[in-house]
Amino acid sequence: MDCFLCNGKLTESTTTYMADLRNIIVIVKNVSCHKCIQCGEESFSGTVVAQLERIIDQLRNTLTEIVVVNYDNRAA
Ligand SMILES: [Zn+2]
Repeated sequence: MDCFLCNGKLTESTTTYMADLRNIIVIVKNVSCHKCIQCGEESFSGTVVAQLERIIDQLRNTLTEIVVVNYDNRAA
């Protein structure tokens, strides 16, 4: 798989994903991603995107303003 921006090589990595909902900010740490060694663009697999959506859905109704979760713990 190559980077869709620059066609550089992608390498397995982890990143911090941030979602800005209307009233809360969700930060998910240690999310598996593919990172381009050339331009640094990060992309997620379909599985990871679906998992992130699930995590955010679960947190959407929380009263906290900022939620920080670890992807590893949530993905199990
Ligand atoms: Zn790239």
